[in-house]
Amino acid sequence: MGNKNYYCEYCGHKFPDVRQLTSGTCSKHPAGSNKGRHKLYEGSEKSEYTCKYCGKRFPSIMVMVGCTCVNHPDGSNKGNHSPAL
Ligand SMILES: [Zn+2]
Ligand SMILES: [Zn+2]
Repeated sequence: MGNKNYYCEYCGHKFPDVRQLTSGTCSKHPAGSNKGRHKLYEGSEKSEYTCKYCGKRFPSIMVMVGCTCVNHPDGSNKGNHSPAL
């Protein structure tokens, strides 16, 4: 048990519980800024996160999603890195 943190897969924001995460709008939502809610990152908390598109590693989800990805499915640099589980 202990203190588990929950992260949004889109913006990397950290929440103390899932209810708070899913009730807030996300500034990095794929449909547009604040056009939808945060999405729970279902992977475990790690010291390093790997992008599921390009395999690059980042120290946090927040850092990862702040950069565009050359292997993004919508096109090169058309979207941000996304954490693998
Ligand atoms: Zn978010
Ligand atoms: Zn990437």
